[in-house]
Amino acid sequence: MPTTHNSQNQAVQVTDVHSFAKPEEAVITHIHLNLDVDFEKHILQGYAKLSFKNITGTDHLVLDTRDLEISRVTQGENGEEAKFSFGEEVKFLGKALTIEVSKTSEVVTVYYKTSPHAGALMWLNAEQTAGKQFPFMFSQSQAILARTWVPCQDGPGVKFTYSADISCPHSLMALMSAENDTLLHKDGKYHFNMPQPVSSYLMAIAVGDVRFHALGKNTGVYAEPVMLERSIDEFVDMQNMVDAASGLYGEYAWGRYDVIVLPPSFPFGGMENPRLTFATPTIIAGDRSLVALVAHELAHSWSGNLVTNATWNDFWLNEGFTMYFENRIMEKLYGRDYADMLDELNFNELQETVKELGETSIDTHLFLSLKDRDPDDGMNEIAYIKGQFFLKTVESVVGREKMDIFVKKYFTEHAFQSMTTEKFIEYFKANLIQGDLAIANKIELEKWIYGPGIPSNTFRVKSKLLEKAAAQAKEFLAGTPAKELHTKDWSTHEWLHFLRNLPEGLTKDQIVSLDKKFHFTQSGNCEILCDWFQHTIASDYLPSEAQLELFLMNVGRRKFIVPLYKSLVKTAAGKIFAQKVYLNARPGYHSVAQQTIDELVK
Ligand SMILES: [Zn+2]
Repeated sequence: MPTTHNSQNQAVQVTDVHSFAKPEEAVITHIHLNLDVDFEKHILQGYAKLSFKNITGTDHLVLDTRDLEISRVTQGENGEEAKFSFGEEVKFLGKALTIEVSKTSEVVTVYYKTSPHAGALMWLNAEQTAGKQFPFMFSQSQAILARTWVPCQDGPGVKFTYSADISCPHSLMALMSAENDTLLHKDGKYHFNMPQPVSSYLMAIAVGDVRFHALGKNTGVYAEPVMLERSIDEFVDMQNMVDAASGLYGEYAWGRYDVIVLPPSFPFGGMENPRLTFATPTIIAGDRSLVALVAHELAHSWSGNLVTNATWNDFWLNEGFTMYFENRIMEKLYGRDYADMLDELNFNELQETVKELGETSIDTHLFLSLKDRDPDDGMNEIAYIKGQFFLKTVESVVGREKMDIFVKKYFTEHAFQSMTTEKFIEYFKANLIQGDLAIANKIELEKWIYGPGIPSNTFRVKSKLLEKAAAQAKEFLAGTPAKELHTKDWSTHEWLHFLRNLPEGLTKDQIVSLDKKFHFTQSGNCEILCDWFQHTIASDYLPSEAQLELFLMNVGRRKFIVPLYKSLVKTAAGKIFAQKVYLNARPGYHSVAQQTIDELVK
């Protein structure tokens, strides 16, 4: 149970249903890792030395582990043997590791190796990378996968600093969510330090053939050499984003902000690993149209990494604030019309998700109930976009000026702390509502947080640019030939809105004419491809099949592949195709993607 503090500064214990650890008794304060990266066996091997504070004078320290092979545990600086035992294996959660410690002990060292199937780690052979010369490995610890590569107290409510000595093959560079060197070390040995406390899900490692290029005074990009030029060009605005974000909500707390562009099997768009965002190459569209993702991961440097959801049930505090913040950065850099366009697309996706989950489903509450479930189940549009629209609604009621003061104060006063939904509500009432009943009634806070669906008082955005795109879809459906549509200077977002305004099951003629004019099947833009393929699947358009297969083989980002497999399994023939492709594609997907798709195609 992580401890947090209420407004009277009393310690409050929070139950984390996804961790065996008992941080209220003894809490980790620092972890030092010493690990060899073994690309032949697909394992990490070495030790984790954990410093902890024994709060209650307990004689045991409890850690989370999953699939770790532990050979030995010692306590104290002199390496005295310590007894240890495992609890029973629980689905998703792994096993508790209980270490017997003396009451005066402050450090334990766990000698271990990871499983070749460690849930967090993705091992790619050279073929699966952009350069095709060297293997690559990376981690994805969120939500509860850190325990598959580091024995730790694996709940977001516990924060600790960390350091590491990592050995890897000489030709490769190792990077972590820590202070990184920008140069290749010829001996394959790297030392890392993370001086600010972070939650376990923010520990990250990547090893591969990557190079660095600076973009601004404290920003830069790492990518495989063949991806570097394109990445530099795509992220040209990154320093401006950091400056805009700091201007909005206070100083950037983490020193540098760099991005590493990973191979395409990365299951997410991005992961906000502190100091070093992990990003999918699918945002490299060539026209900088998908960089909102960088704004999003950057915004996490405040919401999430600085003020952290205390448990995964409070996930909306991480993501809702981040979505709101992301859009404010985009507005600052590219103007209101552009930001409105992103917002309306988001809102439409939220409506779809609510429809899918059911308007009265408790899974549509902002505050989630994930007991006995994989926290990954809660990582959908509700936390992200319902959270965002809650904050936009608040802004529309109290005004932007008051909102900005509140948000900045919220981040500043809770920096490096964790936040429960309950504590947030208390803070919100004390600092924003301040007893004003009229405001409280307009916002309807409890309805948003503990109620289902999209409350009727939600702020609605109407994008002028999207309206034009929708009008062109209407024209097309009314018979205007594709070549006569007005699509000049459209961004990715207008194209997406256009495609989403066409009904499922277009006629063969319609599909052919669209593809002939706009070459969707050959698009290099993954967002557009994903929407387009959903139409081609529904209309059984065979000329796209080879490209679809290639896409599913090469891209592991869950946002794209899940809807495509979903569309495919709707028909018997589609399902056979999906199963055939998945058989070959599966080894190239990260475990969190495999888990979702296994269910879909079985
Ligand atoms: Zn996020």
